Formats: sequence, C-alpha cells, structure tokens
Amino acid sequence: MNEHNGERKRVLLLLSPATYRAGAFQQAAEKLGLEVAQGVDMAEELAAHWRVPLALRFADPDAAVATVLEYAREHPLDAVLSVDDSATILAARIGEALGLPHNSPDAAVAARDKYEMRRMLAAGHVRVPRFERFPLNADPAQVAQQVEYPCVLKPLRLSGSRGVMRADDAASFIVAWRRLARMLLAEGNRPEHTHILVEAFIPGFEVALEGILTDGALRVLALFDKPDPLDGPFFEETIYVTPSRRPIPVQEAIAARTQQAAAALGLRTGPVHAELRVNDYGAWLVEMAGRSIGGHCSDVLRFGAAMRLEELILRHAVGLDIQGYSRDDHAAGVMMIPIPRGGMLTTVTGVEEARAVPGVDDVRITAKLNQPLVPLPEGASYLGFIFAHGGDPARVEAALRAAHSCLRFNIKPHIPLLATGMV
Ligand code: ADP
Repeated sequence: MNEHNGERKRVLLLLSPATYRAGAFQQAAEKLGLEVAQGVDMAEELAAHWRVPLALRFADPDAAVATVLEYAREHPLDAVLSVDDSATILAARIGEALGLPHNSPDAAVAARDKYEMRRMLAAGHVRVPRFERFPLNADPAQVAQQVEYPCVLKPLRLSGSRGVMRADDAASFIVAWRRLARMLLAEGNRPEHTHILVEAFIPGFEVALEGILTDGALRVLALFDKPDPLDGPFFEETIYVTPSRRPIPVQEAIAARTQQAAAALGLRTGPVHAELRVNDYGAWLVEMAGRSIGGHCSDVLRFGAAMRLEELILRHAVGLDIQGYSRDDHAAGVMMIPIPRGGMLTTVTGVEEARAVPGVDDVRITAKLNQPLVPLPEGASYLGFIFAHGGDPARVEAALRAAHSCLRFNIKPHIPLLATGMV
C-alpha cells in the first residue's frame, strides 16, 4: 500500500463524464493501493443527483481550481491527472496551485489549437512546415493564390483528423476550403471568429510516439509505425504496430525531435503522445499533447508482468519507480477500422473468423447497427478495433490485415427522400 504520513496517497483524476478510460485508471489505482478522487466535469445540480462528490466545471478553471484547493485542505492530494484532453489546462493550473509537478498551461492551450501549437514550436526553434491561418470568411479563390502546393488545410480545434484535407492545386484547395467551411459552420462556429490553418504538406512516413516526461526529460515508452501511407486527401488512422521497424538512428531522431518539442511547448511531466512524419530532411512534429494515447489503443501496451499503461502513468504521478518497467518484448498492434463510405450499417459478419486469425487478441466492433455512419473528413468515429500481438511486427501487421479482410460491413447508402419519390 502506498502511504504518506500514515494515509494512502491520493490522486485526483479529472474526467469528462463520457470518457471510457476512467475504469482502467480506477483499476490501476486500486492495484497500487492509491486513493482516487474523481473530479468530474458536471454541473453541481447534476452531481448531487448522481452523488458525484467532486463536481468541477472544466470550462471555468478559476472556479474549478478554487473548488479543488478547498477539497485538498481536507483531502491532501499527491498528484493530479487529466484522463484526456478535456482537462489538461485545469490539471496544469491545479498542479501549479498545489505545488505538484505540472506542465505549463500553455502546453494544454497548444494541444487544443493547431495554430498555437505551430507558433509555439516555431518560437522554440522546432522545425515546422510553413504555416499560416486565414479567416473563414476570406475568399478561398484569393487564399488559393497565396499558398504553395501541396498543402494541408486544417480546422484549429477539431481532433481525430476531422476536417484535415490535402490540396494539390488551387482548384482542389477551393473545394477543400468550402467543405471545411461547411463543417465548421455546421458545428456552430461563427465565421468572423474562426480560422483555417494551411500548412505545407510534409511528405514521408508517419509514426506515433508514446512517452513519459520527468522534470522535462523524455522516456520513450513505445514507438508505433503506421504502415499504411498517409498521403491524403484525407488522413484516416488505420494500423499502429510497435516496436518500430525503422532503423535505430531514425528512431533516435524521432525521440530527439519529440524531446525538443516538449520543451518548446512547456510539457515537463507525465504522459505525452506525439505524431511525427519523417523524410530526408529529418523528423517533423505533426502534433503533440500532454496525455496518453487515445481510443482503445493503450490496450496493446504492457509493461512487465501485465502492467497496463494507466498503471505506469499513475505510478509515475505519485513518484513511484518506473525505471524498472519497460514494454514487454513481443510485438503488438491495433487497427482502427475506418468507415469506407457513408450510409447505414445494417450487418457485420466475419467477426468470429477475424478473432480466430492466429495472433489476433480481440475484434471489437464499436459502430452501432442501424445508425448513420459518417466517414472522414466529416466523421469522428471508426467501425471498430482489431488487436493483435506476436513474435515480430511484420507478423502482427499481417494478422491485423488478415482479420480485417474477414470482416464484411454491410452499409446501406443513404437514399435522399427526393430520389425515392416520397416527397
Ligand atoms: P488531428 O489533431 O485532428 O489528428 P493533425 O494535425 O494531427 O490533426 O492531422 C491529422 C493527420 O493529418 C496527421 O496524423 C497526418 O497524417 C496528416 N497531416 C497533418 N498535417 C500534415 C502536414 N503538414 N503534412 C502531411 N500530413 C499532415
């Protein structure tokens, strides 16, 4: 049991009510004998109804920090962790107020705004592609004349590659701009307050790095190859496999760039997740956040005997040793199953065959039957996830592809009512 002045160490977990990672952190905390306080983003009236002891409004960090300080007087806190992106700013502010190791709140701002991230990286002398932001109400035909090709258009504040599109010339730029503008307006953004980021397309292959920072020093926990080329026009994630098959000097250059970027963003402690692209000019940072890998992807990582990433993060947060733990030796991977086209998912078959593929650990279909499916760039979800492990990364990749090819998704196209003659 982890004790501190005779009391169990206490960690404050900041959670949005919708997160599905709370369970994994809670289990890890129990295993470690830690006490967990859950700070949930919820209005007080609702919190009373659901008997949530510590309700915080993440959108009002001043009030939330005050509430936590009050709480901490009776219940001393040894660490504070944001489970996802939603409370990284608040976690930084609470850490600062309580004198606990914390990241700069600016790093959390950068993780929420792609333009800020580029600006901070450039200011910290981290090489970034040429970038510029334009107001949404600018004339796309004019902007198309000012940018160089190929380029990538991006919303500032969406995630999961939503709205990210490549353009190779002025004509495709204008089409992509209008499409992104429609998305942003449909989400209620006001054109006069909204921007589109345009940056040079970085050719090369892409990797994802999962790491942990202690006093600003990066330790790489896992480097994932993304074997499917991500060349656009949209950038859906598919396969992640670790360990990386890239040469060691390349892996070292990736780690060095990530370390440099962490310093530029003011990330100093706790988990980090970064996406990088690599070409003849070196490793380029696409984005980086002070949180661990999203989705169900952390499921593929194990450190020592059955230790999950969440446990490693909690150990680190309360100052327990993590040096002795490294990712276990086998290769592992996950495939996020992209939505091939829009429509209604009516049936899914082949799941048992896919599960039976040697090396495959699990196949989870997360899309709901008879619900509309929206592919990228507008959509935000996947059909599901395939998990595999094995002796080497090539075999894991092959197992993921074999399992995917067993799956059949029946997607009924949306038929506009006009075409059916019903209106
Ligand atoms: P999000 O936060 O929505 O995932 P990113 O900025 O990480 O947005 O972009 C999503 C994906 O788009 C990246 O993983 C990468 O594959 C691709 N991408 C983004 N920017 C560039 C770029 N400048 N050059 C090439 N590909 C890019």
